[in-house]
Amino acid sequence: MKFLFKNALIYTSGELKKDEVAVDGDIIQGVGESLDFEADRVIDVKGNILMPGFINAHAHTPMTLFRGVGDDLKLEEWLFEKIFPLEEKLSGEDIYWGEMLGIAEYVRAGITTFEEAYYSIPDMVRAIRKSGMRARVCIGPHPTKKLSEKEYISQWESELKLMGGNISPVLYAHSIYTITEEELELMVSFAKKHNLRLSLHLSETLKEVGDCTVKNEQTPPEYLESLGFLDRPCLAYHCVHMDKDDIRILADYDVSIATCPSSNLKLASGIAPVYTFMQNGINVAIGTDGAASNNSLDMFKEMFLVATLSKASLYDGSIVKAKEVLDMATKNGARALGLEKVGEIKKGYKADIILIDTNSPHHFPKNDLISNLVYSAKSSDVYLTMVGGKILYENGKYYIGEDIETVYNKSKETITKLLTF
Ligand SMILES: [Zn+2]
Repeated sequence: MKFLFKNALIYTSGELKKDEVAVDGDIIQGVGESLDFEADRVIDVKGNILMPGFINAHAHTPMTLFRGVGDDLKLEEWLFEKIFPLEEKLSGEDIYWGEMLGIAEYVRAGITTFEEAYYSIPDMVRAIRKSGMRARVCIGPHPTKKLSEKEYISQWESELKLMGGNISPVLYAHSIYTITEEELELMVSFAKKHNLRLSLHLSETLKEVGDCTVKNEQTPPEYLESLGFLDRPCLAYHCVHMDKDDIRILADYDVSIATCPSSNLKLASGIAPVYTFMQNGINVAIGTDGAASNNSLDMFKEMFLVATLSKASLYDGSIVKAKEVLDMATKNGARALGLEKVGEIKKGYKADIILIDTNSPHHFPKNDLISNLVYSAKSSDVYLTMVGGKILYENGKYYIGEDIETVYNKSKETITKLLTF
């Protein structure tokens, strides 16, 4: 289908400009004034903002089922006593509906791409493909269900065959404290053989760093470097507790970081040194993490926190500016996930587009709309979300392959069952 967006205030790469955008199939066919383009549908944006969809660089989408379950606990208690036992009981069907609930939340909030770190790959892929979302899906060793080397390879190879279209793979180690050294080494060799990227939670808590230092006499980044893990293109989630040498290692290997401020605050992990990452030339993206530790999948909230926590922690209001944070949530995210032609509004790029309504008091008097996007906009301002040229959300209606009321009911049924039995 062909779309023409008229009267749009287009945000891309740090600038707002009044222009038109033409979409043909899944690609942005043109950006400019008065485009000569025969469209099936013309959308008058009425001076509102058109921008690239947000890229959520770290997610555990089916965990939307666990929203509000196990709140107000210490991280280890939350993970090992609440979350892991519940996850043991999840069926493939449960995963599917948890994924669908998260996808509904994504499209409502302008998220068009995400890196999915969870298990039961066929059920997640079924939901993602049905919805039309763009995703990197993580395959890798499970933290509690251990397999032999031969079984891992056979499982990962069969999971790779499920990928295609908007869905591509990444090899994922949950963390160095749930994965053995043998598993990490196997991942490195499998990633090399299949030309895969690697992702993991890294230096999220002081306990993780302390335990690794005691056990291996190395910090987590030093340990990964010694195993050859960083030789592959790599995305590290969180990175809250890092000294100068750790940051230097990540910079040297061109590792991207997905910072997840809400999750780090709620689980009391700390505040990531985002400004220091930027000063060292590290590509910083933003993730929501799962709804069990956030509890919402909202990049507006994350952007606000990335900017304000960075400023407050260094007592400097001039650092980590709105434009830099918007880049983190869009094009830096694309780079972190290794996705090309995604994350900007440019000719030839994927038509992953969102429209933001600025006709609310919190946008007026419109002194600086770019600043508003980070400091005063809300996810409810998003009124259209398009992924690969398909509208997945528009003005209260969801086009994700499942009726939204069914998604709500199934998610309620699922968590009631899990908590009862
Ligand atoms: Zn996580």
